[in-house]
Amino acid sequence: MKIQNKIALIFTALCAGIILALSAFVYFFASESISASFFHRLEVRSDIVGHAALQENKSLTSIYYDIKERHLGSLPYEKHRILPDPPDEATRKRLSLPSSFYEAAQSDVPVRYFNRDTSYVVLRVARDNKKLMVVSSALDTYGMQEMGNLKHVLLIGFFIAMVFVFTFGKLFSNEIFKPIRRIIRNVKGINAHNLHQRLVVDPTDDDVEALSRTFNDMLDRLEITFEMQNNFVSNASHEFRTPLTIVSGEAELGMSMPGLPDGAKESFLNIYKEVGKLEHLTNSMLSLAQTGFDGKKEQWEEVRIDELILSVKEAADRIIPENQVAIDFDNLPEDECKLTVNGNLALLKAAFSNIVLNSCKYSDNKPVTVKISADSKYVIVDITDQGIGIPDREIGQIFVPFFRASNTAPYKGYGIGLPLTHNIIRMHQGKADVHSRVGEGTRFTTYLPYKYF
Ligand code: ADP
Repeated sequence: MKIQNKIALIFTALCAGIILALSAFVYFFASESISASFFHRLEVRSDIVGHAALQENKSLTSIYYDIKERHLGSLPYEKHRILPDPPDEATRKRLSLPSSFYEAAQSDVPVRYFNRDTSYVVLRVARDNKKLMVVSSALDTYGMQEMGNLKHVLLIGFFIAMVFVFTFGKLFSNEIFKPIRRIIRNVKGINAHNLHQRLVVDPTDDDVEALSRTFNDMLDRLEITFEMQNNFVSNASHEFRTPLTIVSGEAELGMSMPGLPDGAKESFLNIYKEVGKLEHLTNSMLSLAQTGFDGKKEQWEEVRIDELILSVKEAADRIIPENQVAIDFDNLPEDECKLTVNGNLALLKAAFSNIVLNSCKYSDNKPVTVKISADSKYVIVDITDQGIGIPDREIGQIFVPFFRASNTAPYKGYGIGLPLTHNIIRMHQGKADVHSRVGEGTRFTTYLPYKYF
């Protein structure tokens, strides 16, 4: 989940908690105050009824009732029961109120009890040595209605508030993350081929400015290290090239000398072959250094993959005459646009040669198939061999420079061919997949976007 959504959600959850707590607080106090006022009204009536009951003079009793009716009115479902003080067991059972209720009433303070929406009050009334207990009850229908309304208002208010809080939270976090998103966009555009690019730093004097500056400093250091490493590799490879060409030429000349003993001829041949390998190695290192940095974009052109694969096959025939590489054209797309990529011919040739030559090498020249096809976006080249395979746990490392799998001891190699191939494919916005089983073989699949996609 994006951080800005997370922030909006946390903000909403926090506000939801606060609003809920506040609503509960309001609801609780409103309910307490409504119920306290109702109990009070019930107590007043209870007191009047009690005093009326204690009057022996019947005209006074009716005056009490008259005052009560005229000035106080009656409450919904209002009932009064006059009990002896203390009430006997039979009366208690009839009213089915908790006995603690009557015991508490002994303290001369009105006792309140609420059960199943009904409010009960018990009151002791005493006069001229006569005492009695009044148990009054009534239903606070108005209070219940008020509380119901309050509940609705609070709930609706809560949901409306949540919608507002979430919307504003999103807008707010969106606004805050604007500069971060710009940094992400800029950083995404920086790769090994344009390491000189820097983030735009707005002098806002905040964390975003510090982040951009730190990033730019890191890019400075990376660029210097990258440049130093590439310069070293390309200079060294360049320096090796001329002496190697001379040694190779001399060995060739030596081999063609007339009357040379067989042993010496074989030595020259060995020198020639080994120097050839060294030349291949230095060229690969040079290409690796170059593709890792600027990718030689200026030399890009239209490259037909089928023609390229044919030239790779020709090169393989020259280097390993006994190879059994076969090109499968059965799935070739009819539309030649789907075979044309925009790229550097020499580098692409080096990339596919590496895969094909590896397939021959690691299968001891068993049959290798190269299949060309296309999907809606890529030209796909599958190179399948029946060789030694790559151990499962090592497959992830074969594109790491100088890595060689544990089963390659009998085969010569340096571990730079596939990293170079990988760099080249990525440089062409493509991708490479490897499927392999030890003892069964390996399939390399490369995807290169065709030019007119
Ligand atoms: P190397 O010079 O060792 O062949 P690469 O960079 O070309 O170097 O390949 C890296 C490693 O990947 C090899 O050492 C080998 O372990 C493995 N590998 C590459 N291609 C194959 C293949 N066709 N079959 C088996 N293993 C392979």
